[in-house]
Amino acid sequence: MTTLDITGELLKKYGASGPRYTSYPAIPYWGDATPSMVEGWLESMESRNNSVSLYTHIPFCKSRCYYCGCFVVITPHTEQAERYVDGVMKEMELVAGRIKHPLPVRQYHLGGGTPNYLPPETMTRMVRRAKELFPFMPDTEMSIEVDPRTLDEAYLPMLRELGFNRMSFGVQDFDPKVQEAVNRIQPYDMVARVTEQARQLGFLSVNFDLIYGLPEQTGESFGATMDQVKVLRPDRVALYHYAHLPDSHPYQRRFAAESMADSQQKMAIFLAARQAFLQWGYQPIGLDHFALPEDDLSTAFKQGTMQRNFMGYSTQAGTDMLSFGISAISDFNHAFWQNEKKLPAYYDSVENNRLPILRGLDLNPDDRLRKSVIQALFCKGVVAFAEVEKSFGVSSGHFSEELKSLASMSDDGLVVVTPDRLEVTERGQLFLRNIAMKFDAYLKQGVKPPVQFSSTV
Ligand code: SF4
Repeated sequence: MTTLDITGELLKKYGASGPRYTSYPAIPYWGDATPSMVEGWLESMESRNNSVSLYTHIPFCKSRCYYCGCFVVITPHTEQAERYVDGVMKEMELVAGRIKHPLPVRQYHLGGGTPNYLPPETMTRMVRRAKELFPFMPDTEMSIEVDPRTLDEAYLPMLRELGFNRMSFGVQDFDPKVQEAVNRIQPYDMVARVTEQARQLGFLSVNFDLIYGLPEQTGESFGATMDQVKVLRPDRVALYHYAHLPDSHPYQRRFAAESMADSQQKMAIFLAARQAFLQWGYQPIGLDHFALPEDDLSTAFKQGTMQRNFMGYSTQAGTDMLSFGISAISDFNHAFWQNEKKLPAYYDSVENNRLPILRGLDLNPDDRLRKSVIQALFCKGVVAFAEVEKSFGVSSGHFSEELKSLASMSDDGLVVVTPDRLEVTERGQLFLRNIAMKFDAYLKQGVKPPVQFSSTV
């Protein structure tokens, strides 16, 4: 275990804005897609896979957390849920109808927004319909994001009854001052109670999201949060960098610049937390995830079967993901598509028996090649170019220009480069996005994305 030395100079040098690489190519570079394109992709599905993952996006939240960058609809009126779930069920029927022999479901995930915004009977209706349309297995991983602030005691038993066996929630920071600044009051006792109840009910994994770089956060306050996290011992943690994007999220303008740590202070907070997780026996995974050694994600990481996707990391490499609901993103090996982001457009499509497609991309051979390099960087920290070149049928030395461009990163101790191999060092893990950017053909071509990417460090 080492204590990493990240200087202010290094942060300045690599402090660019760039994609998070939950997909390659990044979403802003996707183009138009039509329902008939997607129908064709769906029909090709069973010839390539032996299982599938399902995701459903529940966009509703009762109030807004000011750091949030998710796609949400803020409303206290739960009546909205009925029409929405009817739409999701219709969309599932349209998709299932295109797949002649539906594949077993390996993972089913509900995210948001706030999935537990759905009243119990509405949730039950939606999950049962998913199980009727797609063959779930006895050991399907069923996971859900919950908001402890709006979770009553009877809800988790109902979820267990439906088959959910993993749950995650946004903890972010336990400090009352930070919670007030970000409009998410969620005391430690509330999180502890829900964690305890989930474990008693037999949820196999309880995962936390934490965020560093929030207003009012200091090294000391986050240290206190970490002490409380240690007591609860989540199975997995995602320790995200707060993405401050007030141009696209105007509600973030309320955060005074002086209330937020600068990049060096933020890095110090991250490094202290990282060090703590390592001391407590967690396996570091990629850029910002940590998992207990016995957790499936640690096993997948060690076995090289992990995959980076829209949920961060998943244990199932090579499994396609079908997603439902507004803004949801489906991830095929060779194609991506995203659903309509506005409720009226979504309803207009599904209620008229059309897939609600907003945009997508059929990956060309170069996209597929680079996607595999970027996946290897994020999931294994190593790229063996001879193997990649062979499996994609390109000539040896295909990436020589990119490897040359890594010279300065090599001098800074972020990567070790040989003519046919690239290895990310422990220090380099913190700059994974910058390293991946060297292999991004869209950035190299200088194509300006229509939206601003967040800061890489
Ligand atoms: S509850 Fe979650 S999704 Fe909803 S606003 Fe807060 S952080 Fe965003």
